Amino acid sequence: MTERQATVKPGKMLVISGPSGSGKTTICKQLLQDPRVQFSVSATTRAPRPGEVDGRDYHFTSKERFREMIAQGAFIEHAEVFGNLYGTPRAPMEEALKQGRVYLLEIDVQGALQLKELGVPGVYVFIAPPDFDELRRRLVDRRTDAPDVIERRLRKSEDEFRERHRYDHIVINDELGRAVGEVRRLVGLD
Ligand code: 5GP
Repeated sequence: MTERQATVKPGKMLVISGPSGSGKTTICKQLLQDPRVQFSVSATTRAPRPGEVDGRDYHFTSKERFREMIAQGAFIEHAEVFGNLYGTPRAPMEEALKQGRVYLLEIDVQGALQLKELGVPGVYVFIAPPDFDELRRRLVDRRTDAPDVIERRLRKSEDEFRERHRYDHIVINDELGRAVGEVRRLVGLD
């Protein structure tokens, strides 16, 4: 084996977006079963939801601290979603890529397109629901949000859906196992 082959291959960024209720979080959880995949824990100023753990799901942060981090260049991208700030910390991403991992970012369309426009190399995947009636049903069934919040999320979803062609790949989440398999192949895990 040559010295070159023996060195660790640099990792790959896998950027996943999709409307709420598209099942993208479930897909990400399945992808994370693979030890070669590492989740990018974002910082956010929104309050934790029941069951969410600080440092695992998000770094829950005050607005002041978040703004300091922006000023320090701590984020590779950041965006405002429904009045809350979300950002992808830069340092853990650089470390994971050095270690040859697949670094999974579950971020909104604004953030993903910022990275793409900056020329950040990665595989950009949009998870699409099979149809919007189905998406509405999933959001209502989830029962985590009030009806006006659901309406707002659906409007954002429709706006995001229009941007899907700017991604490298659109994966339709018609069947979970199939969709996960497709994403795994796109980043060379299978
Ligand atoms: P939620 O509050 O429901 O967890 O997330 C709201 C939206 O923010 C989702 O579309 C989620 O993918 C996105 N999001 C989470 N973390 C980040 C981030 O670091 N940057 C950006 N741009 N969006 C994020």
